[in-house]
Amino acid sequence: MTAPVRKIISQSTVDGPGNRTAIFLQGCNIRCSYCHNPETQAMEDAEASERTVPEVVEEIRKSIPFIRGITVSGGECMLRAEWLKELFTAVRHLSDETGHFLTCLIDSNGTVPFSSHRPLMDVCDGVMLDVKAWDSVIYQRLTQSANNRIVKDNLTWLLQEDKLTEVRIVCVPEMVDVEVILNNIAQIYGFIGKSAPIKLIRFRPHGVIGALSAYPVTSEEAMNHYISIAESLHLPVRKG
Ligand code: SF4
Repeated sequence: MTAPVRKIISQSTVDGPGNRTAIFLQGCNIRCSYCHNPETQAMEDAEASERTVPEVVEEIRKSIPFIRGITVSGGECMLRAEWLKELFTAVRHLSDETGHFLTCLIDSNGTVPFSSHRPLMDVCDGVMLDVKAWDSVIYQRLTQSANNRIVKDNLTWLLQEDKLTEVRIVCVPEMVDVEVILNNIAQIYGFIGKSAPIKLIRFRPHGVIGALSAYPVTSEEAMNHYISIAESLHLPVRKG
């Protein structure tokens, strides 16, 4: 089995906790107007190469002394769930073989139901989940996708299963309903009695070619406003 790998960063400090090998797969099922990786959106691209799991594991092996684990991102890597399961299983074997435990994380837009992929989740240590909007009309405007129900269901399910590593919200004033997202997450955290870190990401237009390419950088004042709302809701929040 192969998956289209766009690039591998052998050591990244921005793709999850600690130093990690980050693997970016080609292909996404939504079209965010603020996407910073638009080159990964097409399901096929000449810059991506079909890679087997053993090939990728050999790349990971080179970085073992320096990394805490791997993160698979995209595009949307959950479109390749079977390949992911094979990769994470192989990384567990690599951990056993080397005695250096590596965690396996997924960075996802949340449009594929994780509950339908139990065998994958058994070998996955956690998910960094994008919540792009709470209101479905705003979500559609941002992503050209009509339904964010699956994203919300994933948030609840991952939290219940202790697989929610982080929630990521890109903050774009007047375009993203950040306050509504935070209020709803606070309700879900309270209802389930568990929580996971929330990263509020400042929007920057650099590299964006979608509808928000001319939109300004989110101000420090706006970011502080969102942080104060999150803190007032007792959410574990940080700026990114
Ligand atoms: S989910 Fe990520 S890769 Fe896909 S369009 Fe949105 S920002 Fe880009």
